[in-house]
Amino acid sequence: ADEAASTRNLIARRNRLLGPAYRLFYEQPVQFVRGEGVWLYDAAGDRYLDAYNNVASVGHCHPHVVQAIARQAAALNTHTRYLHETVLDFAERLLATFPSEIGHVMFTCTGSEANDLALRVARTCTGGTGFIVTANAYHGVTSALTELSPSLGHPLQEGSHARLIPAPGSGDGTGEVFAQHVSDALDDMRYSGIRPAALLVDTIFSSDGVFADPPGFLRPAVEAARAAGALFIADEVQPGFGRCGSHMWGFARHGLVPDLVTMGKPMGNGHPVAGMAARPELLAEFGRRSRYFNTFGGNPVSAAAGIAVLDVIASEGLMENAQRTGAYLVELLSELQARHELIAEIRGAGLFVGVELRHGGAMGTPATTEAARIVNLLRERRVLISSAGPHGNVLKIRPPLVFGKEHADLLVDTLDQALAELSVAAE
Ligand code: PMP
Repeated sequence: ADEAASTRNLIARRNRLLGPAYRLFYEQPVQFVRGEGVWLYDAAGDRYLDAYNNVASVGHCHPHVVQAIARQAAALNTHTRYLHETVLDFAERLLATFPSEIGHVMFTCTGSEANDLALRVARTCTGGTGFIVTANAYHGVTSALTELSPSLGHPLQEGSHARLIPAPGSGDGTGEVFAQHVSDALDDMRYSGIRPAALLVDTIFSSDGVFADPPGFLRPAVEAARAAGALFIADEVQPGFGRCGSHMWGFARHGLVPDLVTMGKPMGNGHPVAGMAARPELLAEFGRRSRYFNTFGGNPVSAAAGIAVLDVIASEGLMENAQRTGAYLVELLSELQARHELIAEIRGAGLFVGVELRHGGAMGTPATTEAARIVNLLRERRVLISSAGPHGNVLKIRPPLVFGKEHADLLVDTLDQALAELSVAAE
């Protein structure tokens, strides 16, 4: 009872102090005071299985990352106009994870800033102003990105140079269909006198509903964009840093090398650091015509955090774990699908998994309220996931990469119970 009162008090204070523009997760919002590995602990000491957080990607409060941050914060932290070796060490380590065509990285504090910078570079280097994104994409908070983030629900302004295309589906022909949408958008730009600047997409389509397969499906679309003079910006904010299991970066699953790559969320395991990696010839042009300064972006503490994250991904074999646990999770979910007809499709790569809920199979109506109910039933049972897609009917499972088989078991058992409870309630 104490806890419920404390939660109500926090919600009231939050509304009073922070105003009405924010949204919390869950019908019963939850307050955490501590994290460790895949677990989050509330004030009463109860633990919750975190199957959603791709920020604390190498595990909550990983000691190696915490110590790296503390050590650097105790030695020096400042803005980014001085020489500092750690920052360059981080750039070197990070660039070593990319194909050789990607030769520079610029640091920011958020994924939004990284995408916003990518827009600037694309405009400068192509002379174009047209951007193509998917119909339920999210790419960030800046004014420029708001119109390229249709999941926020703002209609496009009259005369906008953005073009929205349907997200890829799954299965055979996905690549060709998606490329056709890109070509149609390019034709429409030409007709409207808009020069294209870039195709900006997730390499696993996240807010569109977790579309990952078949690997390679992005290639024809990127070829179409490049043939029209547009760049390919790969938004790796969600798939990047090993989550896909097979590769460090989602674009590699498609056999592609992007022109610009943006990254964020897991980059500092919760410390705000993000960035944009690029082909050097693009930044040569951008640097001739423009300047960039980001007070906090890639400061020494951020760089120390970023290096520590790369250390842990390698030393703990987290990509292999993402691959292994992800495959096991999909196997368990497939067994569940045989028993619960609400599960229409299971998609994903590594530890980035979507479970689409529909009434009446793959072509049925989206089970939107059921998905929301499931997310909340899991939260009541102390397992944290969320939902995605234009209808909100895709359960989105995206745990820290230290997620093991025992955690997958607990997640799927709990999901089984929640689905059973839902079907009893429906009878
Ligand atoms: N791109 C994608 C795909 C994202 O999911 C997000 C954050 N949800 C962003 C960009 C923006 O990142 P940030 O919130 O760090 O600005």
